[in-house]
Amino acid sequence: MAAVAVSHVFPLGSRLNRRGRLEVGGCDVVELAREFGTPAYVYAEDDMRARARAYTEAFRARTEHFEVIYAGKAFPSAAVFRLFADAGLSADVASGGELHLALAGGFHPAHLYMHGNNKTQAELDYAIEQGVGHIVVDSFDEIERLRGRPQRILLRVTPGIKPSTHSFIQTGQADSKFGFAVEDVPRAVEACRDAGLELCGLHAHIGSQILELGAFERIAEVLTGLGEWPLLNLGGGLGIAYTAADDPPSVADYVDALLRRAPEGVTVLCEPGRSLVGNAGVTIYTVGTVKRVAGRRTYVAVDGGMSDNLRPMLYGARYEAEIAGRFGGSDPCTIAGMHCESGDILVQDALLDDPRPGDVLVIPATGAYGHAMANNYNAVPRPPVIFCRDGEARVVVRRETYDDLTRREL
Ligand code: PLP
Repeated sequence: MAAVAVSHVFPLGSRLNRRGRLEVGGCDVVELAREFGTPAYVYAEDDMRARARAYTEAFRARTEHFEVIYAGKAFPSAAVFRLFADAGLSADVASGGELHLALAGGFHPAHLYMHGNNKTQAELDYAIEQGVGHIVVDSFDEIERLRGRPQRILLRVTPGIKPSTHSFIQTGQADSKFGFAVEDVPRAVEACRDAGLELCGLHAHIGSQILELGAFERIAEVLTGLGEWPLLNLGGGLGIAYTAADDPPSVADYVDALLRRAPEGVTVLCEPGRSLVGNAGVTIYTVGTVKRVAGRRTYVAVDGGMSDNLRPMLYGARYEAEIAGRFGGSDPCTIAGMHCESGDILVQDALLDDPRPGDVLVIPATGAYGHAMANNYNAVPRPPVIFCRDGEARVVVRRETYDDLTRREL
């Protein structure tokens, strides 16, 4: 059997090899499961590099004045921060912990943006001590916490734009918990000046998994209406394909939309997270039980679930699944996790080929907000992260052990 291409939901370069098994980054995922165990997050390194390039090339073709900032919250690991630092990107961090990981990944602090709607004094002090390039200030209280520090900052504005995406991942609507309302911006600008801060520009992020470009076009327009600034950070939020039927806008079209209403000469920043890493990763599991409920449903239970992928439970996110060694199939199955919650369902309606215990099951497009939101519910150790490239696999985050679970107990 010749190698067969798989859908765009899988990492770039993925294919079914001659044995009919999925290969990611040139590595057979059934072999990876054998070598590293399951569940595991498996990434094609080159996919992330290619997407970083797509962003920088799209901007470079349209303007000299830009900065692409990796939103580290999507996949906060020193290894991925290192990869994007090498690709020439900046990064944003949304906590002291993410800052620590970005620095561990070798990011120059000057290339970092520090976010958060409620940064503690300790986090602000850590950011300033480390020499973080910009702090994105979110509230009047934060301006007071920074008083007297000669720090470069941006002001986060809530632009009143409500894209059609799940309400839990909308952030730009007028009553958002994030940032300054448009009408408060003049007072915030005054307060920054009075506090001695170096205000360099404005920031807005309207939400995540956004598929309509019109919403992005309006951000620059709203921010430009709030004065003239050398830097406009237009946030992240470009949606990705979670199923083969999804057809998100291209990076080039997204960049076009961001720039369409940005004034000439202004430096435009954007902060993609999901669209840099989401399709680069898959999660592999082992099928443990197959429960056929006559006339109703087949449950295929795997050795992970809401501890490694919270998105389906948090906001009804939809995924596909395949048996890694037998793609295709027509048996409607519900992919259940192993946690003590009926809501621990990873995929409601997957079409599989005769699933059996011992099969390696793969869920694509788990590269963003999977590892990032992993937790220890039911005291399950968190999975490893494996980077694959040209047929070579390396563990960049090891699997947690039972000893890790007791390490914090006193
Ligand atoms: N910037 C900010 C301020 C965010 O809060 C987020 C995520 O919600 C992002 C960027 C990245 O968004 P996405 O991963 O959807 O590109």
